[in-house]
Amino acid sequence: MILTLKLDVTEKQIQETITKIEELGFKAHTSRGAQRVTLGVIGQNAASYREVFEGYDWIESITLISKPYKLASREWKKSDTVVSVDGLEIGAKRIVVVAGPCAVENSEILLQIAKAVKKAGATILRGGAFKPRTSPYSFQGLGEDGLKMLADARSETGLKIVTEAMSPSQVELVSRYADMLQIGARNMQNYDLLKEVGQAEKPVLLKRGMSATVEELLMSAEYILSQGNKNVVLCERGIRTFETSTRFTLDLNAIPVIKRQSHLPVIVDPSHGTGVRSLVPVMAGAAVAAGADGLLIEVHTEPNRALSDGKQSIYPETLKETIERIRAIAECLGREV
Ligand code: PEP
Ligand code: MN
Repeated sequence: MILTLKLDVTEKQIQETITKIEELGFKAHTSRGAQRVTLGVIGQNAASYREVFEGYDWIESITLISKPYKLASREWKKSDTVVSVDGLEIGAKRIVVVAGPCAVENSEILLQIAKAVKKAGATILRGGAFKPRTSPYSFQGLGEDGLKMLADARSETGLKIVTEAMSPSQVELVSRYADMLQIGARNMQNYDLLKEVGQAEKPVLLKRGMSATVEELLMSAEYILSQGNKNVVLCERGIRTFETSTRFTLDLNAIPVIKRQSHLPVIVDPSHGTGVRSLVPVMAGAAVAAGADGLLIEVHTEPNRALSDGKQSIYPETLKETIERIRAIAECLGREV
């Protein structure tokens, strides 16, 4: 339920309303626009307390949110959210390219890739230090050593860093090194993890589960937002279908669907979405044409020797060509890269 306060509301009245919301056992989410203050009353059956607030004469209007997700919905926030990753904006006019190896393998290769993706036009470096692998016998990542390598690559290149946290207990450690926390597809419904990153100071990149609906993705975003972390970027990374010619089916429908339902920025991962190196550039272009705010692309200087996801990793030269391609598409849409 959203309480829109009158233009001449006083700070004392705002505080009184917040106290009442909390006394009733709900969370109050305050949004201070250029002119108006709105208060979200968030919790189970909040709408049934509508009458309590009808008695407050500094409340202009009361709106019920029809969707099961509230803070993630366009009903709660009409304007697009712009998420800052240590000053770099996602969701604004400029389309952001996040690139790097699937996993951090060693400091030399990471630095080589970091420099190459920066030269190609990427602004955020991504690499996993904790890797969720289908097989327990596959490379699991370098852990904290990998995080240190990412931090070194940031100092050398100025790129921002995003990397995955796989469990609640890793969030504090990963937050110490990364500029943004990634929640992987397999953890999209790990609610303890979502609550933990919801309390972290860093922005979150939330990947859609491979069998999750858009509504479930938005419900997962709601977990993070409801803990107070407003900086959530959603990522479409392909879903399971009957099709076997690609690793997953990149659901480009999800971009305009999410944009209609939610104010959160959306980026697209054509690397996992296709699983096929040669399909990445064209699907990156398609994602931008469909309204994506950014791309997440796996890049390796020697993909045939990569410890994970080499088949879908593109060469830095291809990243450069891909960025040129998306720049042309972005300009048609009044955006930039
Ligand atoms: C990854 O980003 O390397 C990854 C494991 O992706 P996902 O969680 O989308 O499978
Ligand atoms: Mn990968």
